[in-house]
Amino acid sequence: MSETPLLPDSKLPALGTTIFSQMSALAQQHQAINLSQGFPDFDGPAHLQARLAYHVSQGANQYAPMTGVAPLRAAIADKTAGLIGWRPDAETEITVTAGATEALYAAITALVRPGDEVICFDPSYDSYAPAVTLAGGTLRRIALQPPAFRPDWAAFAALLNAQTRLVIVNTPHNPTATVWQAEDFQALWQAIAARPIWVLSDEVYEHICFTPQGHQSVLAHPGLRARAMAVSSFGKTFHMTGWKVGYCIAPPALSAEVRKVHQYLTFSVNTPAQLAMADMLRDEPAHYRELPAFYRARRDRFVRALSASRLRLLPCDGTYFLLADYSAVSDLDDVAFCRWLTTKIGVAAIPLSVFCAGPFPHKLIRLCFAKRDATLDAAAERLCQL
Ligand code: PMP
Ligand code: GLN
Repeated sequence: MSETPLLPDSKLPALGTTIFSQMSALAQQHQAINLSQGFPDFDGPAHLQARLAYHVSQGANQYAPMTGVAPLRAAIADKTAGLIGWRPDAETEITVTAGATEALYAAITALVRPGDEVICFDPSYDSYAPAVTLAGGTLRRIALQPPAFRPDWAAFAALLNAQTRLVIVNTPHNPTATVWQAEDFQALWQAIAARPIWVLSDEVYEHICFTPQGHQSVLAHPGLRARAMAVSSFGKTFHMTGWKVGYCIAPPALSAEVRKVHQYLTFSVNTPAQLAMADMLRDEPAHYRELPAFYRARRDRFVRALSASRLRLLPCDGTYFLLADYSAVSDLDDVAFCRWLTTKIGVAAIPLSVFCAGPFPHKLIRLCFAKRDATLDAAAERLCQL
């Protein structure tokens, strides 16, 4: 008699492999130019690499302190003070995590209880929803409409109720490449000030912002700062997405809760990488200060090269993603179009609808321009033939 295999009753039954893994695998299989998953095709700074090798050679190869190595937390405090004029306490308010992904998961797990409601803005980055579901919360999504993708604050206010516990925001925004200004944070504050609601602000592209005002952090708003967790990632800032070092800044009581999760999720993060990043922040602050100009040049080159194509490009105020409307090219839905583009044209992109729970009937794809000139030029040449 054959035994029935014991299968787990999935806690995330509808979830498949992430679109980023799927599209990168398809790109590889068809040797397409991969503008799908967001990562640079060039290396991070030579100094950072040298400092990593140095710290490995000096024996910094055992567990780091659970909250992060002291020099990195001090360097993050200095950077934050220099950028927004407010210094987080390195001891009690900064936690180094295994990429922003871990910080987001730890923050959601620490705060959300069964029955709680969490609000996010769609399109939204794909890691938020599964974390909310696993914590027993319910995600309430506000749909943002292209091309501006601005929040409807009346719709937002209408969603608030006694169960609302957390709002997740993301600026500069993946995938729409829009950014929030101080007025947006002010509107958020006005809506939630009188309610016991926390804010999780995903700011991993904080140094890739092209607006005249620059990046606005939740931490610059004193009211919001007292109930916010701001998350960032050195993967984006130092072009090293594979190093997986990020951090979370939050008031002491919130940080204490995030750390309770972090200490049993990963406990601590790669020691020599943390020390190398501390050196890099101290020795070459020009790197992150010059990042907007560095990526603006790539964006502008790619936009120029695509101007002859039938794609209609949307404005890009931040991140290293460019949205393109392909309605003049194809009637396919965005998922089918991205597969076709990868397998037949040789350029991999990300469909926008996968970032939305509800219908997203627009013909929009996301192209990553964190690539060498030659890569962008070759991709543009193919896209201009559409
Ligand atoms: N949030 C957003 C909006 C992202 O785009 C990413 C990564 N691309 C992350 C979080 C995760 O960052 P990390 O790779 O540092 O985990
Ligand atoms: N955040 C990256 C993107 O938006 C992908 C990260 C991942 O593959 N998990 O493309």
